[in-house]
Amino acid sequence: MWSGPVEYAGACVVAELLVGQDPLEREYIYSRVKQAMRQQAEIGISAVDIALWDLAGKYHDAPIHQLLGGYRTTLPTYPASVHATEHDELKSPEEMADFAEQCKELGYPAFKIHGWENGEPNREAATILALRDRVGPEMDLMSDPYNALRTFGDAIKVGRACDEAGYFWYEDPLADGGISQFAHRKLRELLATPLLLTEHVRGLEARVDFMVNGATDFVRGDVQYMGITATMKLAHAAEGLGLDIELHSPGPAQRQCMAAIRNTNYYELSGSRPKGPNANYIPVYANDYVDQLDAAVDGHFPVPQGPGLGVEYDWTAIRRNSLGTEVFQ
Ligand SMILES: [Mg+2]
Repeated sequence: MWSGPVEYAGACVVAELLVGQDPLEREYIYSRVKQAMRQQAEIGISAVDIALWDLAGKYHDAPIHQLLGGYRTTLPTYPASVHATEHDELKSPEEMADFAEQCKELGYPAFKIHGWENGEPNREAATILALRDRVGPEMDLMSDPYNALRTFGDAIKVGRACDEAGYFWYEDPLADGGISQFAHRKLRELLATPLLLTEHVRGLEARVDFMVNGATDFVRGDVQYMGITATMKLAHAAEGLGLDIELHSPGPAQRQCMAAIRNTNYYELSGSRPKGPNANYIPVYANDYVDQLDAAVDGHFPVPQGPGLGVEYDWTAIRRNSLGTEVFQ
């Protein structure tokens, strides 16, 4: 789940800063590490911050969501498709609609399209309309072109299909990489569908600026990049503005956070495919924790109730797949 050597290298810098610190003083560590990591866009904080919360939960013998202030015990979920490709299981608007219908029959209340990486706007728009035709009005639908649309005009064209089909949100359409407040304010003026931005904006303050400056409707919170501490700060900032935060990607830490947030709508089961295992799921758990399409009950996933993250790890499997080990002392 941790995307590659850049994040891992950052985590090592953070881990070194922990030596000699009280591991329960997460706020102090967050502030110190944030300053130290400012030139690396704070990447690397999350793995260590999540580990500190897991430790705190085990120390207090409570699940993290209870320490944060519990709000819910099950999580309404949307499968987000793997990226469509010309040569695999999601080749056409019809195949994407088949998959959305399959998810509706499994009981999911919502579904998100990850389109084709070449960002061809007419096919993206046709897919958006085909899904609404197929699943009817009651399922929430979202479109995430993953910054593949090459021009502002293409983003308008695809966004107007979202408007016509009554989409719940339109996420990261522009090839700017999802970081221009000016471009997204303009897009919001021209479209009716709510925008969801900030998956690719780094740091708490820059995400809050996006909301305050009217450049997004939903704010993306990212436990994978920000950690639990900063994600909860962002959730509370959004709450104070009357807005919703939506958490990126599945995982035990995401479930713990979402369980303690009122102003959020869905758990994201990204990497979902019509057949076969989830493309992003790494089986490192020794208990019954799982993020797979067929594991939800009525479109909801449970919140782990054990101490800390509430999961047990299969250390044999982890060691078998390890690429290296670092020790800080
Ligand atoms: Mg996204």
